Amino acid sequence: MPPENNLQPTNARGLAQAVMQCRRNNSFLRAILDVYEDLDRATGGDKNKKLCLGGGACCRFDLFDHRLYATLGELAVLKRARMVDPSRTARNRCPYQQGPKCLARLNRPLGCRVFFCRETREKSDINNNGVYETFHRRICDLHARHNIPYAYIELISGLKILHEFCR
Ligand code: SF4
Repeated sequence: MPPENNLQPTNARGLAQAVMQCRRNNSFLRAILDVYEDLDRATGGDKNKKLCLGGGACCRFDLFDHRLYATLGELAVLKRARMVDPSRTARNRCPYQQGPKCLARLNRPLGCRVFFCRETREKSDINNNGVYETFHRRICDLHARHNIPYAYIELISGLKILHEFCR
């Protein structure tokens, strides 16, 4: 559900401008990073490493056949990391991945933090959907509190728009 201020960009340019607005607001970005830290604590941090196969397959969306979504604030935080290869988005792969590694670990969005490929194969007792909803709600509230337009967009589509409009 969108935040109550209900400011929503209506086109790609407006979306990119909203991400730039997020990027200029340091207290908003810091607050999102605080949410990430709380999420990592809630999901057990290192305890979950055993649920990651570490092969990087889940960031190659064309092969893994899934999609991640992010808010504009999350895209703004992610954009602070160095993009390895923007052209990877054309193949539906994350441009922050180098080999099997994520080079945006501190800045990666909620969806990346709660997804564990081994968990999808071997059932785990971690309720990541519930955790995701709780922390996503907090980010929605931050958008409203900082009066920043909100959108929830598929990650690779969002990165393509940013690459086009925010050079
Ligand atoms: S940001 Fe990192 S974890 Fe998330 S999809 Fe990209 S490479 Fe994978």
